[in-house]
Amino acid sequence: MRTASTPLRRTDAAKRPPAAGSGAGSAPARAPAGPIHRMARAGERMSVVVQRLSMPGRVLAILWTCLLLLAAPTHAETFDYRLQARELAPGAWVIVGLKEDFSFANGGNIVNTGFIVGREGVIVIDTGSSKRYGEQLLAAIRRVTPLPVVLVVNTHHHPDHFLGNQAFPRETLAALPDTLAAIRSEGEGFNANMYRLNGDWMRDTEVVVPTRALAVGRQRIGGRDVELLALGGHTIADLVVVDHDSGTVYAADLVFHGRTPTTPHADIPLWLAALDTLERLPTRLWVPGHGEPTPDTRALRQTRDYLGWLAQTIRSGAESGQDMTDLFQTPIPQRFAGMALAKEEFRRSVVHLFPAAEQSVLEAQRTPTPK
Ligand SMILES: [Zn+2]
Repeated sequence: MRTASTPLRRTDAAKRPPAAGSGAGSAPARAPAGPIHRMARAGERMSVVVQRLSMPGRVLAILWTCLLLLAAPTHAETFDYRLQARELAPGAWVIVGLKEDFSFANGGNIVNTGFIVGREGVIVIDTGSSKRYGEQLLAAIRRVTPLPVVLVVNTHHHPDHFLGNQAFPRETLAALPDTLAAIRSEGEGFNANMYRLNGDWMRDTEVVVPTRALAVGRQRIGGRDVELLALGGHTIADLVVVDHDSGTVYAADLVFHGRTPTTPHADIPLWLAALDTLERLPTRLWVPGHGEPTPDTRALRQTRDYLGWLAQTIRSGAESGQDMTDLFQTPIPQRFAGMALAKEEFRRSVVHLFPAAEQSVLEAQRTPTPK
C-alpha cells in the first residue's frame, strides 16, 4: 500500500511512541498509548468528575473506573489483531482488514488476506503486515483445518501483503518474478517505515523474500482447481488467484471496494486493462485487496470508475496548465464520497501521477508538427 521512506533502525522504532506517517500518505500523530499514560489521563478526568459527586457517588465512580481499567486491556496492548476468518464459499476464506491507513491503533491490519482449503492442503493469499499478523493468520487457519499449508503467495510487493511471511515455512513462499525482485530491492525500506507507523506491533518483523517464482496458469494445488494470473497496473506485478472450485477470485490490490485505491506504483492504463481481463473471468465472488468482498463485479466497477476519473482529472489539469496545488482543490465527485480516505488518497495520487502527466504534456508541446 505504501511507499518506503527514510529507513529507521528497528530497535529505535520499537522504543519510540507511534509517529506520524511520511510525506504523502501520512498517518496522524498519536499520543503514547501505554497503560501508565492511559491511567494518568483517566485520573485527570476522574478528579474533575469526582469533585462534583456526593461521597457514595465518589466511591462508586472510583471503583467503576478501576474495574474498567483492569478488565479491558486495549486492542493495542494485547497485540491481538482479532482476525476473524470468514468462509465466502466452501473452502474459500477471507479475513477482511480495516479501511484505514496504517497506524499504531490498527497495527497495520488494513489488508484483506485469504486462504483456500483443498482436500490435501491450504493455499494462503498474502501474509499481512507483520510477523505477529502472519502468526495470527496461521492460528486462524489452524482453527479451520489441520491440513498443511502447501503454498503461500505474495500478490505484490506492498508491505501489508508480505511482512507476515516469517510465520510460514520458507519452502511454501512464492510470488511472481518481478514481485520477488521488488521485495528484494524495496522490502527493507518498507519494513522500516512500517515500524515507524505501527510501532511495537512490528516487533521482530523481518523481510523474508520468497524463494520460489510462481508458474502461472490453471493447475491443481492442494487438491484444488486454481488459476494464477500474472497481471499488473497497481504495481509492476499483481497476482490474481482464481479458485475455480468455488468461483472465487482473489483480486488483490487490482480491486478496492469502499476504500480509495492507492497509486504509489501505479500504471493506470495497464491497471484498467487488467480490470478488463478480470471482468471476463467466469467467477461469482470477488475478494478485493481492501474492502468488503462482493458477490458481483461492483467492486471492480467502482475501482475502474475511480481510476478513470483520476486519470482524466490529472490529464486535464496538466493540459490546462494547473499545478499540483490547484489540483488538490478538485472536488471529489459525490459517487466517490463514501469511499474511505477519498481526499487523502486523491492528494497522494496527484503527487504520484501529476509529474509524469505534466512531463508528457510538455513533450507533446515541444514535438514539431509534421508537414
Ligand atoms: Zn498494494
